[in-house]
Amino acid sequence: QRPSVFRAFDGTGRTADGVRVQLLANVSDAREARDAAAAGAEGVGLFRTELSFLGRDAEPELAEQVAAYRAVLAEFPGRRVVVRTLDAGVDKPLAFVGATVEPNPALGVRGLRTAVRFPQVLDRQLEAIALAAAAESADVWVMAPMVATPDEAHEFVDACRAHGLASAGVMIEVPAAALQSRWLLEHADFASLGTNDLTQYTMAADRELGGLASLSTSWQPAVLALIHAACQGGEASGRPVGVCGEAAADPALAAVLVGLGVTSLSMTPRALGDVAAVLASTTSRECVDLARLALAAPTAGAARAAVRRRLTVLE
Ligand code: PEP
Ligand code: MG
Repeated sequence: QRPSVFRAFDGTGRTADGVRVQLLANVSDAREARDAAAAGAEGVGLFRTELSFLGRDAEPELAEQVAAYRAVLAEFPGRRVVVRTLDAGVDKPLAFVGATVEPNPALGVRGLRTAVRFPQVLDRQLEAIALAAAAESADVWVMAPMVATPDEAHEFVDACRAHGLASAGVMIEVPAAALQSRWLLEHADFASLGTNDLTQYTMAADRELGGLASLSTSWQPAVLALIHAACQGGEASGRPVGVCGEAAADPALAAVLVGLGVTSLSMTPRALGDVAAVLASTTSRECVDLARLALAAPTAGAARAAVRRRLTVLE
């Protein structure tokens, strides 16, 4: 059972023993960014840029993109804002990067894959992000969605560098990327786990289908094992691995994620207070124990029950 009211967040995430866990917000436009700043978010861990341009037939002009990005960056002066490049897909159609009918669109040309056919769209977006970053004081990080291989990470990071973008990362939302995070992080400066898609692809369960909800939970021990593998790759390469999927907004799961090695959590702003409260009353050692319990469980339900039994703060 969740804490009954949303708790206030004082603006700094840490465990009971003082280990910092940055608590960031997921936003899609300036209004949401303003709300996130008001809720105390330390920054933005996922700016879903594609949501501003849904339904457009033509690629937005450079100036329009710069204005849209600047408006979000302006809400977080001096703070981290992770800008995700366009994540076109079946759930987020963008006609200007191809609306071809595919037999299995969740496995098709989506996310970063659209850049192979439309390299100029990625290039223009990176230019717009670089211009927006130069005009605002936010600490701009850029990341690509749906990265599957080290080669894709390498090409994306090179493209970012060509635009002078110093902090270039990858989303880990494909199981292959989770298992190979070490090699992705040879190129990328950071990784962010997209647990919504990582769960969809691990469980082979369409995230859009409510009827598959019992499969589509990040409490699935197989999903947690992949998150753990991704974090181990991060530790081996000395690079941060965060979470920006819905899993970060579940306070009990957030403690597990920290125990698995995640260093930042990005979520809907209204979840910040509850997540901060659970972390503030759980030591990093206890987070590791919770992660062990969850990883050792046979089912999602057993993992969740075992962790919640231990987390008395949720009672
Ligand atoms: C995810 O897949 O977890 C994610 C954060 O990206 P989106 O929900 O936008 O696909
Ligand atoms: Mg995703």
